[in-house]
Amino acid sequence: MGRQYIRILIASFFVKFSFAQAPQSLSSAEIRQKMERLSVLGSALYFAAHPDDENTKLIAYLASERKVRTAYLSLTRGDGGQNLIGTEQGIELGLIRTQELLQARRIDGGEQYFSSAYDFGFSKTYDETFRFWQKNEVLREAVWLIRKLQPDVIITRFPPDERGGHGHHQASAILAHEAFLAAADPNQFPEQLQEVGVWQAKRLLWNTASFMRMQGESKDQLKIDIGNFNPLLGQSYGEIAALSRSQHKSQGFGSASSNGRFIESFEYVAGEKASNDLFDGIDITWNRVEGGAAIQQNIDMLRSSFDDSAPQHSIPALAKLWKEIQQLPNSYWKMRKKQEVEDLLIACAGLRIESTVSNARAVAGTSVPFKTEIIVRNRGVKASISALNGQNIDEKLPENEVASFSSTILANDITQPYWLVKPHTLGRFVVEATDYGYPMNPDLPLAKIDLQIGEVPITVQQAIQYRFVDPVRGEVHEYLEVVPPITASLSQQALLIPQGEKRTVEITFQRNSASSNASSIQLGSPSKGWDITPRTFELSFPERGNSVSKTITVTNTGANALQTLTFNIDGQPLKGIREIAYDHIPRQAWFPSIALKLQPITIVNPVKRVGYIMGAGDLVPEALRNLGIHVDLLDIAKLNGSALEQYDAVICGVRLLNVNPQVGKALDILYRYANNGGVVLMQYNVNSRLQEDEFAPKPFALSRARVTEEDAEVRFVESDDPALNYPNKITKQDFEGWVQERGLYFAENIDPSYRTPLEMADKNESPHKGSLLIYKMGKGKFVYTGLSFFRQLPVGVPGATRLFVNLLTKEN
Ligand SMILES: [Zn+2]
Repeated sequence: MGRQYIRILIASFFVKFSFAQAPQSLSSAEIRQKMERLSVLGSALYFAAHPDDENTKLIAYLASERKVRTAYLSLTRGDGGQNLIGTEQGIELGLIRTQELLQARRIDGGEQYFSSAYDFGFSKTYDETFRFWQKNEVLREAVWLIRKLQPDVIITRFPPDERGGHGHHQASAILAHEAFLAAADPNQFPEQLQEVGVWQAKRLLWNTASFMRMQGESKDQLKIDIGNFNPLLGQSYGEIAALSRSQHKSQGFGSASSNGRFIESFEYVAGEKASNDLFDGIDITWNRVEGGAAIQQNIDMLRSSFDDSAPQHSIPALAKLWKEIQQLPNSYWKMRKKQEVEDLLIACAGLRIESTVSNARAVAGTSVPFKTEIIVRNRGVKASISALNGQNIDEKLPENEVASFSSTILANDITQPYWLVKPHTLGRFVVEATDYGYPMNPDLPLAKIDLQIGEVPITVQQAIQYRFVDPVRGEVHEYLEVVPPITASLSQQALLIPQGEKRTVEITFQRNSASSNASSIQLGSPSKGWDITPRTFELSFPERGNSVSKTITVTNTGANALQTLTFNIDGQPLKGIREIAYDHIPRQAWFPSIALKLQPITIVNPVKRVGYIMGAGDLVPEALRNLGIHVDLLDIAKLNGSALEQYDAVICGVRLLNVNPQVGKALDILYRYANNGGVVLMQYNVNSRLQEDEFAPKPFALSRARVTEEDAEVRFVESDDPALNYPNKITKQDFEGWVQERGLYFAENIDPSYRTPLEMADKNESPHKGSLLIYKMGKGKFVYTGLSFFRQLPVGVPGATRLFVNLLTKEN
């Protein structure tokens, strides 16, 4: 698909990202609801920083009670949060949360957009946030979206100061205000004005909240009751909101529904003040469009003559309405309302359209056959198909009988999410202007179906899907993936290699189509001190079989710095396939460039064998295996005291105390093991929903304190503490090169029996001693730590690895 085509899609924002799912048909009540929306020409934009910041009840109310176009701009994809359902972190968590947000919007009726800002983790100030985000670039995208969506009202979740909490929250409010002003200013981002006009939203409001410190100060806050019940949908907005919010499963945000009067408050920020309603002083009727009065009369007739038992009787009136709108001069509302009428024509005809492929995957550069099935399920409807992906067809569609049409698309490019095509910076994805705002790729493989219903030409563009039946889940729909012809995977992502030693890594190549054949592989040049063999080789797949492996040997001959080894295939970066599969969202794939981190390390490691009890999920076990430690994953329900004796240490995965209800019984066994000479190391937990309140051998409390600056100064309170000296001498250098943060949910009110050898703080804060607690317990020891080893170890941070080994070592 050419770039020109994509531009057309963008100019009209027509590609709808509902969700990979069966085509949704509307009930007569839902059709009525959409007919009512035809009369409303208003638009609202909710503006915040993360998936889950948005007020889903307000979005549901705006979309379905007020029936205005309602969008949520989440500046980030929530990449830096904690994952409660699996081990994905960073951009992969962002992929999960993107789909969760799309699912939430499908329920509450809003539209979803993002900027290129990367959620780099918790930030305490907007200053720090803007340094990472490249403020002007994020502002440019927000301005583009405002000019594109033309919201009458912009609503922020947060205030622009400390009351917003998270630095990203404060930054979102500051950006909303600046974008509100800049969108109306022709001197700001003038390059956008070729495609969009300047836009002056009527007002900017802050949606205050009773939680945290966000009540606001102004006494004349605008108050609106949003607790209504919608009889056509059979739900109150509080019920819809709970369903929508409960989609944030990776954050553990299952929510209860609420009913009855519910007052939402808004504080004035900029633009014209409102005294009674969000849309005060804004004409959100057809009067805002020249020649619109006659159209409203037609809508009134359409609504009064609608027959619930035969929606198709409304097709002539809809066709008439479509033609009248078509006569209007071009405008935002003309395009928008024409599209709504077309959606209603499809709904009233009882049309179901689905485009599917027979394989979940296609290989880039091949042509992919697909099938479009159409059925007209309401009686007496005259509908025909004129073309499929540009091929003329001209056939009448039969009544209540599936008509099937075949075509092919050329799968040119891999379906890499557009924000992952180029490597991201610390604070921002690198994206093209043509992709601004989109939640997913606008150029996913699409079927373009030209139809006629009641003599109205309608073009439907839908993402081509793979459909299959799962015995438990039923019919499952997924997006078609286009993958590289040959992909690869490494047995390890990072090698920590002491000087003079060598390690091997296995690279396995997968041929994704039988016709992809011999290729040459080149490894990037290593820096001084690394010796790598082989550096190039030819790939040839066995006659039967689509995979082949090769061993690479890396020797540290005196390296003193981290090296990232890249791989090329026929001159192009070699890619892998990472699949993310959960039942509540469509399966997703992305294609990381294959890279191996080589890290010189000086380490003494006496730890041979450990047991690991998984908590919410982390990648520490794999990192320990890379050090040569044997790791057994232990089932908490089957923990057995005598079986633990074989381990040098037993490690509790992150949030174990939050996620595992069986943890209480297990702790007794673990502490007996420690008393008898074992080491128990517990990683961070959060204070809310602890399964066991008194979980530690000696008391301490869990706070929300964290050190978010990954380079924050670390002070050694007791520099001769054995944990900092044996078997590895820990120095300040060991706290260099950490990623994202130092640690989180530090301990407080710590019983004096604990040693707390470290102290640290973010800039301008007082030092905190709760990151590392060590208690000598009988013949063994208990360690509690909020240091984010779960982030450092998987990426091979040498200092964190050395300290972790010390903590697992019995003798200190
Ligand atoms: Zn947030």
